[in-house]
Amino acid sequence: MTTDATTPQIPAGPRTLGKVRPHQTQNEALVFEMSSPGKRAYKLPPLDVPAVDAAALLGSAHRTTPGLLPELSEVEIIRHFTRLSTWNYAIDLGMYPLGSCTMKYNPRVNEYVARIEGLAEAHPYRPDSLAQGILEVIDLLQRCLLEITGMDAITLQPAAGAHGEFTGILLVRAWHESQGNARKKILIPDSAHGTNPASAAICGYTVENLKSNAEGGIDLEALTRQVDEETAALMLTNPSTIGVFESQIAKIADILHAKGALLYMDGANMNALVGKARPGDFGVDVMHLNLHKTFSTPHGGGGPGSGPVACKAFLEPFLPTPVLVQSKDGTKHWNYDRPHSVGRVRAFYGNVGMFIRALAYILANGPDGLRQTTEDAVLNANYIRKKLEDDYELPYKTASMHEVVFSDKRQAALGVKTGDIAKRLIDYGFHPYTVSFPMIVHGALMIEPTESESLEELDLFIAAMRAIAREVEVTPELVKTAPHSTRVSRLDEVQAARKPILRWRPAE
Ligand SMILES: *Cc1c(COP(=O)(O)O)cnc(C)c1O
Repeated sequence: MTTDATTPQIPAGPRTLGKVRPHQTQNEALVFEMSSPGKRAYKLPPLDVPAVDAAALLGSAHRTTPGLLPELSEVEIIRHFTRLSTWNYAIDLGMYPLGSCTMKYNPRVNEYVARIEGLAEAHPYRPDSLAQGILEVIDLLQRCLLEITGMDAITLQPAAGAHGEFTGILLVRAWHESQGNARKKILIPDSAHGTNPASAAICGYTVENLKSNAEGGIDLEALTRQVDEETAALMLTNPSTIGVFESQIAKIADILHAKGALLYMDGANMNALVGKARPGDFGVDVMHLNLHKTFSTPHGGGGPGSGPVACKAFLEPFLPTPVLVQSKDGTKHWNYDRPHSVGRVRAFYGNVGMFIRALAYILANGPDGLRQTTEDAVLNANYIRKKLEDDYELPYKTASMHEVVFSDKRQAALGVKTGDIAKRLIDYGFHPYTVSFPMIVHGALMIEPTESESLEELDLFIAAMRAIAREVEVTPELVKTAPHSTRVSRLDEVQAARKPILRWRPAE
């Protein structure tokens, strides 16, 4: 970014990022290429063993020309990575209101526990008899998640939410096949996360769209009309992607079950339910959880994720291999002898480091703490809703749970879109909210603060959003050309997605 006279001045936002960064230059190409011949970031001690003839030792594998690597000094490398880290945004810097993503703070005690040597160094090939400690951790997490969800059986293997959906629908398919007919279609509401139809399709099902009603929930009449003997399941997110609890959920389950279809729940929004309501108690047959959302394990560049799948007892025989079992003497081991299993969905047992973090989070909070977390998440979203509803259009008046969805209707009338407002938010020191999703809301602003944020931080965010609403009325160009405080401004997003340049390559 340049700072010539045409650059709009940034009003001092509540927490405006530094306007000019010391390492900015006009010539990006010059700073990008920092390598110069002969620089070294290491110093080896003098050789104190007899030199060998590398060529004789390595034969044809011996390379005669050095590899083309950037040549830099130690301080240059340190500065390069430290500088890059300051161009990024993270939950450790401030509120990250990316709706549907539950970007909550990752408590440091989780990291401490995950680094305990006996857990961190446990090798997956270690025999079960020598891995009783880590197996106990896995077993305890499974039991906690079953208690929280009200389900009967669980696998921790899937590596993310979408992978959990895939695994869950494989269970649905395997069960229907065991009944003599895999069935053909899966119903998915139009408000669903894009991964839902993708998961259903990859499991060989046709996806049938289910229209939402005026409150953003399932239209029971439409559902009754659409469920038939070829319906394998309904995939339902609850609370939905507009942050609304599906109050007819038990009826929905009954309608499906009457036709032999199953209810799959996308549990990515469990941050609104933990300690309050259990899917197993309201008719859900199978669901996934996102440990990296609800249970505070890092995500958004900090992964890997974890998407456990919990199910009712009748689906248990189909769970991925292996499953953890306990012998009469109390020792635990993996059982691979599962003739009806859908097979393995992930190497070893899943992302075990995330299990440890999630369990640390659950145990540190305890039942009352987890319930409090849910209440605070819902309270924070509703506080934002109340404080911003004079400035932004609220398309659904139904009570919000853990997130609130506005639309850009009023701002769009002045030529400013949700994406522009989101980019302007960056100038005020916040990560953008989720833009243009869910699809049932035109020009959506989807905001999920999570329970991590203090009243002070929520107020800063609200002040920023209000200030932007004023700017849209007075100086819309300022918003339409934002961000102005970052090193680069509006990028060619198509090129960035199609032709990303992810690493240094030597000049040809
Ligand atoms: C995040 C999310 C998913 C997908 O989870 P990933 O871990 O990103 O694969 C699915 N459904 C909903 C509602 C989500 O919010």
